[in-house]
Amino acid sequence: MASIKLSDIKKSYDGKTNVIENLNLEIRDGEFLVLVGPSGCGKSTILRMIAGLEDITGGEISIDENLVNDVAPKDRDIAMVFQNYALYPHMSVFDNISLGLKLRKFSKKEINDRVNEAASILGLEEYLNRKPRELSGGQKQRVAVGRAMVRKPKVFLFDEPLSNLDAKLRTQMRSELLMLHKRLNTTMVYVTHDQTEAMTMADRIVVLDKGYIQQFDTPINLYNNPANKFVAGFIGSPAMNFINGTILKKDTHVFKSNEGWKLNLLHNEQRFDNDDKVTLGIRPEHMEIVVDEELSDFEVEVELIEMMGKESYVYLKYGTGKIILRIDSNFKVTISQKVFIKIDKKQIHLFPN
Ligand code: ADP
Repeated sequence: MASIKLSDIKKSYDGKTNVIENLNLEIRDGEFLVLVGPSGCGKSTILRMIAGLEDITGGEISIDENLVNDVAPKDRDIAMVFQNYALYPHMSVFDNISLGLKLRKFSKKEINDRVNEAASILGLEEYLNRKPRELSGGQKQRVAVGRAMVRKPKVFLFDEPLSNLDAKLRTQMRSELLMLHKRLNTTMVYVTHDQTEAMTMADRIVVLDKGYIQQFDTPINLYNNPANKFVAGFIGSPAMNFINGTILKKDTHVFKSNEGWKLNLLHNEQRFDNDDKVTLGIRPEHMEIVVDEELSDFEVEVELIEMMGKESYVYLKYGTGKIILRIDSNFKVTISQKVFIKIDKKQIHLFPN
């Protein structure tokens, strides 16, 4: 069991520019924490600094209150699972899983016990004598996890461990890893660029962009209360719609879109001045098509319909903008049809431009 604290962490690879800037993060004991963000935002760098595989340029990393800045990776009691599994092709599954224990001079009995326990949890008992090339992608991934498990580390670090698997297997491995977390109750830090993976797996999520934490919260809070436009657009699928306009402040506060239609806001927007340019954010599930123009907020044209099964995604265009709506697939719309849209005002987000 372990908590991890990162204080004022900086990282530069070239000695000139920092790819991580003053990062502060406290990971709780037993937590499943996900670092998510677009490619190049610094996720792997943070993970590798926790593991000790990458020097830190400034700041402090503590595990269970012990400063580990100068502790070698092998002495940090951390196990890392990589995207490419990092298995030795010429070794059997048993040898791949047990290698770390052998190097640490564990007894034969202890090694056998630990490998068999991990193999039974991961469903690998039948494959212990096979070579990695004789395994499916999911099985290779389980071997990589098994190798981390047998060390009984204080912390597991996962670097995009599922990105080489097909969609169905990815979903299955997601729930397997979550069950493993429930069973072991060990602190896990998981890196992914996939917001769905982050939302479905995390106790808490760190959303990163360009080396900075944009928001750190539970999945539901990120979805309901995104701190800024970046988080709003990154979390949620299909992504939140953004509509550009202006805030008008007279008796009531109004959002006026660049196309000219207006929306009376439920709250007075003290954050903004009259005539401030803003972006209105509204999720695809928080708008509906209405028949009555009187009840609608604006008119759009249907451009494309994506049938997903129970629901469909409808791509709509208006003036210079485009939005996506989620609707029940039984609701019939056709391409090029003009439809009226009503926005659920309780669900709008306003961001400064
Ligand atoms: P992510 O994991 O979010 O894709 P990384 O942590 O791999 O991002 O990279 C963050 C930034 O640091 C990127 O701009 C990347 O190009 C740079 N970077 C990563 N590793 C190295 C390295 N070994 N040498 C130089 N620059 C690096």
